[in-house]
Amino acid sequence: MPILVMKFGGTSVADPDRIRNAAKKVHAEVARGYDVIVIVSAMSGKTNELVSWVNETSPMFDAREYDAVVSSGENVTAGLMALTLQEMDVPARSWQGWQVPLQTTSAHSTARITGIPRKNIDQKFAEGMKVAVVAGFQGISPEGRVTTLGRGGSDTTAVAFAAAFDAERCDIYTDVDGIYTTDPRITNKARKLDRISFEEMLELASLGAKVLQTRSVELAMQYKVRLRVLSSFEETNSTSGTLVCDEEELMENNVISGVAYSRDEAKMTLVSVEDRPGIAAAIFGPLAEAGVNVDMIVQNISDDGVTDMTFSCPVDQVKRADQALADARSKGDILFEELLADTGVAKVSVVGIGMRSHAGVAAKMFRALRDENINIKIITTSEIKISVLIDRKYMELAVQALHDAFELEKAS
Ligand code: ADP
Ligand code: ASP
Ligand code: MG
Repeated sequence: MPILVMKFGGTSVADPDRIRNAAKKVHAEVARGYDVIVIVSAMSGKTNELVSWVNETSPMFDAREYDAVVSSGENVTAGLMALTLQEMDVPARSWQGWQVPLQTTSAHSTARITGIPRKNIDQKFAEGMKVAVVAGFQGISPEGRVTTLGRGGSDTTAVAFAAAFDAERCDIYTDVDGIYTTDPRITNKARKLDRISFEEMLELASLGAKVLQTRSVELAMQYKVRLRVLSSFEETNSTSGTLVCDEEELMENNVISGVAYSRDEAKMTLVSVEDRPGIAAAIFGPLAEAGVNVDMIVQNISDDGVTDMTFSCPVDQVKRADQALADARSKGDILFEELLADTGVAKVSVVGIGMRSHAGVAAKMFRALRDENINIKIITTSEIKISVLIDRKYMELAVQALHDAFELEKAS
């Protein structure tokens, strides 16, 4: 039997009624002749609630117990989905990560998948089971403990299953009907794309577009999984949604394909650091060891052997960064006058493979921001993206201005 992977996100399994709606879509695929692996998220809001309970109980929590708690939301929806399918006379069984087993590294709360042996599920398919409902987001470490894959990780569970089981396609059902030129919550001019390249989606995801977890796109690209995003709230067919595919399969070729944003950024500045060989290593080594995800970095022009070093990181890591740099200073590894933290910034990025062959994208981006009087604090670029750090209060305006400037509401 051909295998299909169908993933349902939080809003698509938010209550028994929504689960029934999702189960009908699964039933329809079984009727078309597929064996289906369904990956479910926790009910919407559940994971946030579990995370807040952990923080309330133990602010410096043990990550192993964090995973034990936050993985539990998916167990509930997996069981309910299997029951709902059984009520529809579809032979279905639920699987928690450890039962598959979905093997991961021991990096609790950000574990990576290392293997998915097919044997157990294949055997059940051979015995007549039509649907394996798997709890997304969770796995088991070599030490035998429950792990989780980072927020949004059920997308990655889905793609990993599609790769392991040679699925015909991996369908990600969510609360929007596809991937848009930008988050449709920010502007109603956002346009749904029929197709987007793996590379562009990878950039958009890593720059903040949470419609797919970054790692899921990486895996799909690596294992050539046909990955589709579509709505669980609408009638859908084989051409619905957005297909994430190779560049050669693209239909349109806008220079820019999307605008992404990341709201919760912070800008940190080390004032008057000594400017000597090895200073960057002395600063960013301890930050990496403390688990701070440094993103943009700017070193100012040196004056009299001292310079300012500025970097950005997620706002919830500011305390950790502060601590790591204070420790390095007290050990005498770095000298600086003070550490300034601006916790009110956001990152806005434009992404497009057309940038490789078109000049002037950066100039156009900066003009559009200037016309709205938005000051740019840091700029970074790569081959197919330009990102700017700006005051958070201008974030939505910036996204809208850039969407207009690059005329993304129109297909090329
Ligand atoms: P799920 O719970 O189904 O995993 P998520 O909330 O994780 O859903 O992701 C879907 C959300 O991603 C949408 O509701 C939308 O607001 C947001 N989003 C951000 N950028 C985009 C984009 N470019 N296209 C579509 N949705 C986007
Ligand atoms: N429930 C997890 C989260 O909210 C995983 C997921 O939904 O993808 O992050
Ligand atoms: Mg998600």
